[in-house]
Amino acid sequence: MNVNIEDLVRELKSIVGEEYVSEDLFERINYADTLLPYDVEKEFLPDVVIQPGTAQEVSKVLAYATEHDVPVTTYGSGTDLVFPTKPKHRGVTMSTERMNSLEINEEYQYLECGPGLKTGTAIKALGKLGYFLPIQTQVGSSIGGAVSINTIGHLADNIFGRPVHNVLGLEVVLPTGEIIETGSKCLRRSAGWDLGRIFIGAEGMLGVITKVRMVLMPMPETIDAVGFFKTDEEVGHVMTRMYQKKLPLPMDGEFVGTKACKLGCEAYGLDFPEGAMAVIKAMGRTKEEAIRNAQEVVDLFKSEGATEAFVIEDPETAEKVWAVRENVMRWGQEKNKKGGKAIEVNPVLPLMAEAIKSLERITEGRTDLIAEAEAYLYGHVGSGSLHCYLTYPYGWPAEKMKQFVDAIWNVEKELQLKYGGIGGDWGWFPHRLPLYRETYGETSYTIIKNLKRLFDPSDILNRGNLEGEV
Ligand SMILES: Cc1cc2nc3c(=O)[nH]c(=O)nc-3n(C[C@H](O)[C@H](O)[C@H](O)COP(=O)(O)OP(=O)(O)OC[C@H]3O[C@@H](n4cnc5c(N)ncnc54)[C@H](O)[C@@H]3O)c2cc1C
Repeated sequence: MNVNIEDLVRELKSIVGEEYVSEDLFERINYADTLLPYDVEKEFLPDVVIQPGTAQEVSKVLAYATEHDVPVTTYGSGTDLVFPTKPKHRGVTMSTERMNSLEINEEYQYLECGPGLKTGTAIKALGKLGYFLPIQTQVGSSIGGAVSINTIGHLADNIFGRPVHNVLGLEVVLPTGEIIETGSKCLRRSAGWDLGRIFIGAEGMLGVITKVRMVLMPMPETIDAVGFFKTDEEVGHVMTRMYQKKLPLPMDGEFVGTKACKLGCEAYGLDFPEGAMAVIKAMGRTKEEAIRNAQEVVDLFKSEGATEAFVIEDPETAEKVWAVRENVMRWGQEKNKKGGKAIEVNPVLPLMAEAIKSLERITEGRTDLIAEAEAYLYGHVGSGSLHCYLTYPYGWPAEKMKQFVDAIWNVEKELQLKYGGIGGDWGWFPHRLPLYRETYGETSYTIIKNLKRLFDPSDILNRGNLEGEV
């Protein structure tokens, strides 16, 4: 930085207003903290946190930051699990939370919103009008965050597409302060160059998204179905069969491994057979169509060896079944008073069952700290995502926790390489840089670095993330 903190703060106050600039220690910790099992160190706190209210304010902040070499970290809600919002070089953390406008235009059939709008708020507002948001991440996460990492939560990619398919246009502020518009208001997307796509999935490294326009989708009718299998890997087989048999694909296809399922069913008083659980959310234009589609999946489950499978007619049971799935991360912790951390593996379809088997045995035969952990499996098998939640005692010192986190990121990389996967649920960088380089090679990495230089000559945005700093 070639400006002192006092001058920086004075300038920021004059741009965004005094009440939206904070140097408070707790505020700085709030915006820098992560889900890692150790506290964020002082050197990774931002010097100042700001909440601009308009694209024009963002533009002035970024132009000033570029001129004075001030690192700027863009913060949606901080729920991305690879912590790209932890500032690696202090500077300014810029929260988008005040830019949370929402317009639902039924005439043109689009939704237009500020980047800080929570997905939960959009889901509710759209639901009242009979529309569906094709981004179902954590309800507290921001639309700008989801678009910036091109993620959709549990949804099946090949049904709904990702933000890169569903965004009609963006407003973006470049690091040098220029404001650009991409796309249009028409439903037809560009057949050729569409500059908007370069910012979707760029994890906030090329510009700050200040407006998102997306297609409206009619709300489908849904119904849940569930199947229980003696082994976890059978769920992998059955999901592969679902695609091969060309069944109507569900909105979600989720999986809870035997160990987590047992704890979850006990917690909710569900009297289900022991084993792994597959839950699918079947959909249709009408309720009858959704039920028919769910029944087809139930028939498949039974023909593939499910010990029990049925369409869930009772909403209370459906709620409990989803709670077993959604709370997987809690079961291991509550039972054994442990902390934990999840990894993600996205195997190619034919290797799904084998990957599940590997994850089940992830702690076996190891000489590193993973040997001391317990593994709980779950995942979005309908779209090829597997997660393994690894728990460890709370009492470990911070240094040991760090070694553990390094070890699990490393094993995630090995498994992704082995099973042909990529990072499907949260962004690539910075933790996944080694996987990126090994998968796509140095030429690809150099192209990204050159793009970054082109858009952000002073490297102010999310500095360090592209270099794999964690
Ligand atoms: C318990 C839990 C479960 C989760 N499950 C899933 C899941 O099933 N599927 C899934 O996909 N994700 C999942 N996530 C991850 C998380 O919900 C998503 O990654 C979410 O979309 C991130 O949104 P955010 O607002 O928190 O973004 P942040 O974490 O704040 O930011 C993410 C990245 O986007 C950048 N960014 C944010 N806003 C902007 C902007 N306006 N312009 C430019 N860059 C910006 C940031 O700098 C950062 O690099 C889960 C997270 C948690 C905690």
